[in-house]
Amino acid sequence: MGRLDGKTVLVTAAGAGIGRASALAMAREGARVIATDVNAEALQGLQGCETRVLDVRDPAAIAATFAAVGTPDVLFNCAGFVANGTILDCDEETWAFSLDLNLTAMFRMCRAALPGMLARGHGNIINMASVAGSIIAAPNRAVYGVTKAGVIGLTKAIAADFVAKGIRCNAVCPGTVDTPSLRQRMRDSGDYETARASFLARQPTGRLAAAEEIAALVVYLASDESSFTTGVAHVIDGGWSNT
Ligand code: NAD
Repeated sequence: MGRLDGKTVLVTAAGAGIGRASALAMAREGARVIATDVNAEALQGLQGCETRVLDVRDPAAIAATFAAVGTPDVLFNCAGFVANGTILDCDEETWAFSLDLNLTAMFRMCRAALPGMLARGHGNIINMASVAGSIIAAPNRAVYGVTKAGVIGLTKAIAADFVAKGIRCNAVCPGTVDTPSLRQRMRDSGDYETARASFLARQPTGRLAAAEEIAALVVYLASDESSFTTGVAHVIDGGWSNT
């Protein structure tokens, strides 16, 4: 028997990294997983999942997705993007893009899911935040930190407003996770080995997390095992914020 038998889960950014590992892990636990991503090719090979292209920056596409698949029992909002730099490196365009993809898209997805969840009397939302933001500051992550602090604020607001109506809402706050986009950022730095060493230096474990380690927390939060947990920013950072 799977830990998520009978549950439908909608995942955003399921094509790579944590979203992909989580979609696969939840399908293995018996959920009906609707795995979505803006990149159709990235959705290949997601065994046991139904796949759909979804750009979470597109309100019409979000509406069409919910019209097509209905309201899931669990919504995992995973889409997000890292803009490097301090506030002085962040122009208006980068600021607007980061807020839109990392936070406003989540606002849109939650607003699309909540009416159906409330009508049904239960619902479970998991939002991807980060330990970088309001838990600890990370240098050169100004707008990223702002968006992830906002995700925690949104999560707590939803949890508080709907706790008596059968809705749970939690945030996941990872440290540094070895994913395709992280490796791309190392390559983009122009010195892969130095960039990797500096990411490793902030992890007292001496290693990065695997996406599957974060997926294990997502499975727990999606399951009824976490039924008394809501409004919490779940830190999973290999001790980064404890040092
Ligand atoms: P990733 O960045 O490697 O992959 C992201 C996926 O998002 C890609 O498949 C991409 O196609 C998809 N995507 C991009 N724009 C999209 C859009 N508009 N609509 C739908 N999908 C879109 O994945 P990751 O590194 O696992 O990051 C996933 C989430 O986890 C992000 O929110 C990120 O901020 C967060 N996070 C990552 C780390 C880390 O170290 N990797 C740490 C903390 C938090």
